[in-house]
Amino acid sequence: MAQMMLCGTCLEPGRFELVAAPVPQTAPEGWVLVDIAAAGLCGTDFHIYAGKHPYLNYPRVIGHELAGRVAVAAPGWALGVPVVINPYVSCGTCRACLRGKPNCCTRIEVLGVHRDGGMCARIAVPASNLYPAGDLPLEAAAMVEFLAIGAHAVRRGEVAAGDRVLVTGAGPIGLGAALFARDRGAEVHILDTTRARLDQAAGLGFADLHDAIDGQVSDGFDVVFDATGHAGAMEAGFAHVGHGGSYVLISVVQDRISFSDPEFHKREARLIGSRNATAEDFATVMDALRMGVVRAEALLSERVALADLPTRLPELAADRGRLIKAVVIMGDVE
Ligand SMILES: [Zn+2]
Ligand SMILES: [Zn+2]
Repeated sequence: MAQMMLCGTCLEPGRFELVAAPVPQTAPEGWVLVDIAAAGLCGTDFHIYAGKHPYLNYPRVIGHELAGRVAVAAPGWALGVPVVINPYVSCGTCRACLRGKPNCCTRIEVLGVHRDGGMCARIAVPASNLYPAGDLPLEAAAMVEFLAIGAHAVRRGEVAAGDRVLVTGAGPIGLGAALFARDRGAEVHILDTTRARLDQAAGLGFADLHDAIDGQVSDGFDVVFDATGHAGAMEAGFAHVGHGGSYVLISVVQDRISFSDPEFHKREARLIGSRNATAEDFATVMDALRMGVVRAEALLSERVALADLPTRLPELAADRGRLIKAVVIMGDVE
């Protein structure tokens, strides 16, 4: 009889269960089987659970922030090698891919979103989407993906030493952007409406914190990042961009957003989208974690066992302001 595993599955909005499936024993050509050790939970997972994700077919095995070990030796990959998984499966042949931007591949399939993810014991992944984790603890390795989104945004925004930077939205993605902007020597300000989130930012050593409600944040930033996920906040952010400055939108919303052209033009502002991350950003994050520039322990709010996830997921979704990162422990993370 086939060996079975439990997969954390959203059957439909509001219904999350552990569903039994056979443990994969073979991978397609060029793919590698990975035994998952840890999987981060994030806003995307909560959106899938809430039925708020724009492009999603149910049922879906969630899990896109993944770390584990090679389960079956494959060319270039020895059995047991610890790995970080890049969950953005790209086609390799579209114009974006050919121009070195697989993060915005026209046919992108994100594990745990467009196809089944890794909230389970074992998953197959394209070999080119694996990075050796080396001596990085696997719990920290499961946090690389969300931090890479922030690192990518900072690279997109070309943040330089001495820049005045504003990050709006102090959730995990915004905090990631703030950490990598600070690492580049920028003066980083953070704006959020939630006191708990500003407190978390303070815990990471950020001192220039602004409560959006009191409107005290001054304008004139060299680079503004939006990680709020709210159309109104994205529109309001244009006013914080200084003359000659840039506005990087990490958020995605289903609404249209608009801005004043005369205000935009007089600033000669740059408006930049930032989507996902690339191998370069994953490498930046892994280096930062190894060097202690970013401390995984400071970002890890809670460990959850896979068996407890059906109970904990709705509770965590309802309590997101208190969390930076919850990580589901699937296997041996030592
Ligand atoms: Zn995520
Ligand atoms: Zn492509």
